[in-house]
Parts: sequence; structure tokens; C-alpha cells
Amino acid sequence: MTYKLKEKTGFRSKANTVAVYTTDYEPFYVMQRKGDYVYFNLPKGEYIIEVEVEKLKKPVNFQLPPLPPFERNIKRPQFIKIIFGKNPNKCSIDLEGGVIICDDSIKAKGRAEQCFVIYHEFGHYFYKTESSCDKYASRKMIEEGFNPSQTVYSCNGCLSERSVVRKNEIYNFAKQVKRKKFNLI
Ligand SMILES: [Zn+2]
Repeated sequence: MTYKLKEKTGFRSKANTVAVYTTDYEPFYVMQRKGDYVYFNLPKGEYIIEVEVEKLKKPVNFQLPPLPPFERNIKRPQFIKIIFGKNPNKCSIDLEGGVIICDDSIKAKGRAEQCFVIYHEFGHYFYKTESSCDKYASRKMIEEGFNPSQTVYSCNGCLSERSVVRKNEIYNFAKQVKRKKFNLI
């Protein structure tokens, strides 16, 4: 079934495995059920879900761990432009000009990974430390309607094999996210 979501939306399902696809059949979110239900959110957009799901009245309320204290707070231009081109660093930001320069290779990544990369760069307005920008990105993604596991997956997919420490930090950050258990149906 296709779901057109105008805003972040919560779902639950009794299926053993929930798989959500984008409308071009790219996998978007996959989760195995552990308890009675799988609870998850989806950000605004259009999705295909082939198992039975129940829309929740409100999005799943994920309680997020606090972010590290800001290391700086650089004045942001009103608009941040995202451009694609050749960037050997994969992605970087011109903080003063408000331009995020993504390497063309990012276009081939899934939506979650693209979001992770862009929010990470945006995080540099507040942080110098790379792993803090990762946490900022993870938090922004979850606020937008992605699920904690998607932030781990995106981080793994975007960082090189050498970035083990950063990957572990995001894994531990996402593990601390707790679902509030009321207001669901
Ligand atoms: Zn960075």
C-alpha cells in the first residue's frame, strides 16, 4: 500500500518484519519486531509498505539523549544552499556563505544517508568536533521522523571504514533513544 504523508507520522505493526520502500522501490526502513508491535515514524513523503500497519494518532515520541554542549554558535545566513559537484571530502560547508557542497557520489545514496550528511554539515555551525556533528545529525533526523536505527545505518553508510570511533559513538547515542510509551493510539 502507498502512503502519502504530509507530515511526520507514527505507525505500529504486528508484522515480524516491517519493510518500508520509497516509491521507486528503494529500501527506506527495515525493522524486526521484538515486542508485541514494531513502532516507527516516517518523515513527510511517499512510501510503500507491504505489511499491515496501523497509523498512530501522533508520531512515536522518541526521547533523545542530550547533545554535547555547543562549541560555538556561528551566525547563520538566512538560507543554506546545497550544491553538488566534485568534493574530495565528500561533503563540506562554507559556514559564512551558507553553502553545503556535496560530492556527486552522494546523489547515489539513499534519502536517510543524504539527510545525515547534510545535517552533519549544518552541525558545524555549533560544533568543531566531528562526532558531535554526527550526534546533531542523528537528533535532527529523528526529529524529522527518521528512526534511531536509520541514523546508525546512515552514519555507517557515509563514513569510511577508518571511522570506527565515530560509528560507535552514533551507535551508542541511538541506543540511548527511548520511546515514550503513552499517547499512541
Ligand atoms: Zn564534519
